[in-house]
Amino acid sequence: MAPGQTPISSKHVAVIGAGAAGLITSRELRREGHSVFVFEREKQVGGLWVYTPKSESDPLSLDPTRSKVHSSIYDSLRTNVPRESMGVRDFPFLPRFDEESRDPRRYPNHREVLAYVQEYAREFKIEEMIRFETEVVRVEPVIEKWRVQSKNPGGDFDDEIFDAVVVCTGHYTEPNVPHIPGKEISGIVFVMFEIQSKWVAAVLSGRVTLPPPDKMMEDINEWYASLDVLGIPKRHTHTIGRIQSEYLNWVAKECGCELVERWRAQEVDGGYVRLVVHPETYRDEWDDDELIEEAYHDFSRKKLISFDSSYYLENVR
Ligand SMILES: Cc1cc2nc3c(=O)[nH]c(=O)nc-3n(C[C@H](O)[C@H](O)[C@H](O)COP(=O)(O)OP(=O)(O)OC[C@H]3O[C@@H](n4cnc5c(N)ncnc54)[C@H](O)[C@@H]3O)c2cc1C
Repeated sequence: MAPGQTPISSKHVAVIGAGAAGLITSRELRREGHSVFVFEREKQVGGLWVYTPKSESDPLSLDPTRSKVHSSIYDSLRTNVPRESMGVRDFPFLPRFDEESRDPRRYPNHREVLAYVQEYAREFKIEEMIRFETEVVRVEPVIEKWRVQSKNPGGDFDDEIFDAVVVCTGHYTEPNVPHIPGKEISGIVFVMFEIQSKWVAAVLSGRVTLPPPDKMMEDINEWYASLDVLGIPKRHTHTIGRIQSEYLNWVAKECGCELVERWRAQEVDGGYVRLVVHPETYRDEWDDDELIEEAYHDFSRKKLISFDSSYYLENVR
């Protein structure tokens, strides 16, 4: 080890949830050298992409005794982000033209997203870290560690101690009331999970150090002041749509990983504008063919696709 370099420490980490965030986070934590244990209350990976036609007995989720349904997607749902931007950076969300059950469109249906998430879990052998049908019911701090209590499939409770807990339980299961009509969220959520979890993994191993508390407080106050100037209420503190790429590149630099590709940042910004201006047609009509081309050339250069990029480009348009 070079003089002055901090030793990398391996932590015992619990991840709660095996939706896209939990899967991506688990892979990044393991890649950093941590031992990872994932709790998932359902029988399979995928989180909200596991579609069910069932709905809750109380649609506003106010009744605590209601029957709970995790997924909040509907049957006709298609992605609001183009597939080349949506996938994580070293495992692109590629169209499959050879199987009838697959949806090769640029903005595919929700079944296609679930298939991608399942393939990701298989490819990176994440299922071996997951304990299915095990719900975390309580997390509490105990001297410098965390106690995680879970309910196993037999209905018994287990207690385990971890150095850190990463909560990936999703936040679209309970509705937000009141709803603002026409307000749709779009962004490169999977890439955000990827970059943020690389950063979390690096902080836990000691490769990245947090700034001193006063500096963090200073930054938080500056951020609130910038929201104030724009007349944005504090409840939007975590809404980063307008500065998504800038924020992700900042986090990427902090943990020394690749910045967001030019084509991806532009697709997201342009896609957002098209979504607002043409909400009915933006998924099937677009004018950014040069960005799709750049994306597939990039995948080809990084050897992430097995066919020539022209194969995808001819079929996807
Ligand atoms: C209608 C809709 C459309 C969307 N469209 C897109 C899109 O087109 N593109 C895009 O990139 N993103 C989209 N998103 C955003 C979507 O939320 C993310 O893509 C992502 O899938 C969220 O993953 P997650 O892992 O954070 O949460 P989830 O998918 O909700 O997964 C959470 C997991 O945690 C488990 N869990 C919860 N509590 C516990 C517990 N106590 N113990 C154990 N396990 C637990 C759940 O069973 C679940 O498996 C959309 C969201 C919605 C609601």
